Amino acid sequence: MINRLAVQTLPADVPAFLRAPAALDEIEYLGPEPDRWRSPAEPELNAAQAPEHFIDLELADKFLPLPHKRLDFEAEVFAAGERPETIGLQPWEADEVWERLKAAMRAYRQLPAEDKDRHPVEQAIIFYAGWLGHYVGDGSQPLHTTIQYNGWVGPNPHGYTTSHQIHWQFEGPFVAANIHLPQVKADMTPAKAIPGDMFDAYVTYLRHTHTYVEKVYQLEKEGGFVGAGTAASRDFTAERLAAGASMLRDMIYSAWLDSAQPVPDLYAGK
Ligand SMILES: [Zn+2]
Repeated sequence: MINRLAVQTLPADVPAFLRAPAALDEIEYLGPEPDRWRSPAEPELNAAQAPEHFIDLELADKFLPLPHKRLDFEAEVFAAGERPETIGLQPWEADEVWERLKAAMRAYRQLPAEDKDRHPVEQAIIFYAGWLGHYVGDGSQPLHTTIQYNGWVGPNPHGYTTSHQIHWQFEGPFVAANIHLPQVKADMTPAKAIPGDMFDAYVTYLRHTHTYVEKVYQLEKEGGFVGAGTAASRDFTAERLAAGASMLRDMIYSAWLDSAQPVPDLYAGK
């Protein structure tokens, strides 16, 4: 839903191939693609990419300011005697896939000058946009940003659920049964280019998502994710999906605009 809505609502100055029906279908199909890599049949891939679906901000914030480069963050974590896969790598993966998308769009812009067919690079852009959508969608789900990932841990004065069901109950069956595309679309923000540094903007997006962690547990306690849930739980969930779709759309749009920028020449003046 997030992938489809993001692409459907792209501004008109993004190339039309990205909004064509075949591209929409492909981008929607790719939404769950990184979950297809979470299989014991591919153990090395699974181990490397599972941490890219989440970040426990309570743990990551021991390493402020968060380094923008993945290996710098991992080095700090290892130096502290910890492991990146217990903290999560969400913003690094999202930013890197966004940069892949931007690089492919830059190649797309350059091809006419070289009198080459654009179809192959269009396929690459569609793949990167769909792949990116998975992480941006994960990043709209509060339970992907917290140690409270799937059942409350630690002091629990409000008596929130500790059973390991809330995560999937919320984002899986409850969404499938109750949340529909028109409601989510109505909650989306107007399209805009994302100003400034994308890594910083993405971390800000995750921090905003994180402010809703306790809200998810409150809604669950009120029966919000059983059956049809409550009006409050349906509104909340639609807004979260809309936040993901809006962020993905704005990231794709920003990649397109930024792909027009000249590449800095590292060797200028050397
Ligand atoms: Zn995921």
